[in-house]
Amino acid sequence: MLITDARLRHHGDTLHDVEITGGLFTSVTPATGTANRGRQDVLDADGALLTAPFVDAHVHLDYANTVGQPRHNTSGTLFEAIDIWADHKAQGYVTRESVLENAATAVRAEVGNGVGFLRTHVDVTDPALTALDAVLELKDRVRDWCHLQVIAFPQNGILASPGGEELLAEAMRRGADVVGGIPHFERSREAGVASLRHVFDLAERHDALIDVHCDEIDDDQSRFLEVMAELTVERGLVGRVTASHAVAMAYYGPGYMAKLVPKLVQAQMRFAVNPTENLQLQGWGQSAPMARGVAPIGQLDAAGLNVAMGQDSIADPWYPIGEGDLLRVLESGLHVGHLLSEPVLQRCLDFISDNGARNMGLEDYGVRVGTPADAILLDARDDKDALWHHADVLASIRGGRTVFRRPRRGFLEAMPGLTVSDAG
Ligand SMILES: [Zn+2]
Repeated sequence: MLITDARLRHHGDTLHDVEITGGLFTSVTPATGTANRGRQDVLDADGALLTAPFVDAHVHLDYANTVGQPRHNTSGTLFEAIDIWADHKAQGYVTRESVLENAATAVRAEVGNGVGFLRTHVDVTDPALTALDAVLELKDRVRDWCHLQVIAFPQNGILASPGGEELLAEAMRRGADVVGGIPHFERSREAGVASLRHVFDLAERHDALIDVHCDEIDDDQSRFLEVMAELTVERGLVGRVTASHAVAMAYYGPGYMAKLVPKLVQAQMRFAVNPTENLQLQGWGQSAPMARGVAPIGQLDAAGLNVAMGQDSIADPWYPIGEGDLLRVLESGLHVGHLLSEPVLQRCLDFISDNGARNMGLEDYGVRVGTPADAILLDARDDKDALWHHADVLASIRGGRTVFRRPRRGFLEAMPGLTVSDAG
């Protein structure tokens, strides 16, 4: 396949031709205009932005599209959501068929929004591990559309839920890729620390990456991030560990941050923040000044830490909407982080692409010669333009094969009645 007249990120208005052979990008050259007319396998980008697919750095596919089962979240809080999910499981809603259908619907929406790589947590505190098996099955069934990386996630705690340690270990044996945890949900500070040791032990045994729901609570005393950083360095796992959510950071004072951030830098801690989700879940029952419970994206980014953004939830007890539209997630994250500065806007797609790929440990990611030919075409000129105009995804390509194409909308051109005619 030859993609002609594509813009590339950080290359201004210069157009390029990109050749794909045997599932890999094999050449990237300045556009030759008409030289390739007559070839059958040409995709004319017509100036659209060719970029690596979006990466959803944090999502829960097994929860997707279950909102209202068995009831809606009336308080809006994380902890009511966890209770609803426990009832959802107890009342038999989780079956292979229901998870497959709901998660497949979510994956279709994500792919339609330009996502090619998803890191999905799956609850492994159900003794039958039904959802895990279903998501592992789905991973195989959607492999021509996108790549799923599966995290064994102990939603009800490793030590706080019956058989939690054994279920987490069994999930890794059954094929989960990454070890998860939830230390702030364990019964005490000490149990939380012990649960983290357990996560790190298991990850070492499987040579697996780690991604922990860490300090997702409106509590400035929830401080498991420093424990994670310490364990990361101690175990020689620098750069292999992700802290998801980390919302308690929004409540830490400057004195503690001055101690914490250098430790995070030393551990090369990866971050997966979920702005839309945590703007909904956090900050209830607070008095002024109101913290909104999103990790300090700007401060982490300025310290050189890798910050990726994720959807987290798609219509589940935690969050009532969502469809894997990462440009929307990015827009929320940049607003809440006070990050609409020109230098950040010029590289803003990093938060939903390269940074997520780094969290996932994807080494062959990006549009360049020699990498797998995974890409999307955005109806935009550059990063800022894509965010600003919420660019349509015109095409998705995986392994050199077209997953889908859709026509340009020609938004204004389609409304001739709104044309401003000559003054008069
Ligand atoms: Zn989550």
